[in-house]
Amino acid sequence: MTTIEDANFALKKVLDAGSQKNVIELAWIKNVRVTIPRVILTLSLPSFANSQRDRIVQEVRGVLLDFEDIDDVQIEIDNNPQTESQNQSKGPELQKIDGIRHIIAVSSGKGGVGKSTIAVNLACSLAKLGLKTGLLDADIYGPNTPSMMGVSEQNPKVTEGSGSDQRLIPINKYGISLVSMGFLIEEGQPVIWRGPMLNSIIRQFLYQVEWNNLDFLVIDLPPGTGDAQISLSQSVPIAGAIVVTTPQQVSLQDARRGLAMFKQLGVPLLGIVENMSVFIPPDMPSKKYEIFGKGGGQILAKENDLPLLAQIPIEIPLVDESNRGVPISISHPNKDSSIAFTNLAQLIQSQFVNR
Ligand code: ADP
Repeated sequence: MTTIEDANFALKKVLDAGSQKNVIELAWIKNVRVTIPRVILTLSLPSFANSQRDRIVQEVRGVLLDFEDIDDVQIEIDNNPQTESQNQSKGPELQKIDGIRHIIAVSSGKGGVGKSTIAVNLACSLAKLGLKTGLLDADIYGPNTPSMMGVSEQNPKVTEGSGSDQRLIPINKYGISLVSMGFLIEEGQPVIWRGPMLNSIIRQFLYQVEWNNLDFLVIDLPPGTGDAQISLSQSVPIAGAIVVTTPQQVSLQDARRGLAMFKQLGVPLLGIVENMSVFIPPDMPSKKYEIFGKGGGQILAKENDLPLLAQIPIEIPLVDESNRGVPISISHPNKDSSIAFTNLAQLIQSQFVNR
């Protein structure tokens, strides 16, 4: 006769697509009760995993109905799950940054796909929604957010005090508190930080900054799957990571590696953003050309059971204004790409509302 232990054991086959941990370990399934021929249980998903709900329900039913003496599975949905940090099983000791509510990491498998553009415009769009927003440019290989935000000539000040008491004061622009590796690196100089040194610099950028109170800190990660990503993921609790890709099938392999890294590190994945989805010519905005092919974002999202959070078109003002130091969501709020960024920001805000 099937017992609660049997049911719990079988339920371990149902996995989170992001971390690949099972639903019992993650405490997403609770209160399993077995009264032959019925199993009743509670499904308590954190909001970042809501997109997986239908699949998880189906798989939970599947594994339980495989028992010969079970023919009814009742799933109660708990709409007030515990926070992710309470749910997460023990990994490396993560240290919150005082005053910061949610950290969103923007990453990509390779450079040049528009990761920094997405991070900058997401931060601007969150700020436009009235949310207190910070942007940490941790892209040591190409820290270009200061130029995209028009502050490359500025140098952040430090607070009074000495040694470890001192804090870096972020530059404020477009309502965003910005700190960038670019403020530390001389233009044109190669970056040769690795391992422990990189780790210590990243920790300073997280913890020795006067961030004050922020609803969201958006982190522009370096491309790829190297030391910086690992250092960051193992230092602060990241509320969710976004993986940026382009529509070409050839970029998928790099993006897949990025996704696999976050899964291994146990970082929750929010979803995929496809950049450069279509080209919108300025003289004929009703036309849309798929110059980089199509489908990449959708394929990646589907493979990983994640939402495709946004598709950002290629627009000329996006490049021009970015070169001038004004993100498109500030300079042209009604362009298609700005609207897509606003929708992305609203989607992210809604995932973390009341948390
Ligand atoms: P990454 O951070 O992935 O290296 P960037 O954000 O620096 O990429 O973008 C690379 C270049 O592509 C920049 O010149 C940027 O202005 C341009 N770019 C990015 N996204 C778009 C887009 N949707 N439309 C037009 N140009 C874009």
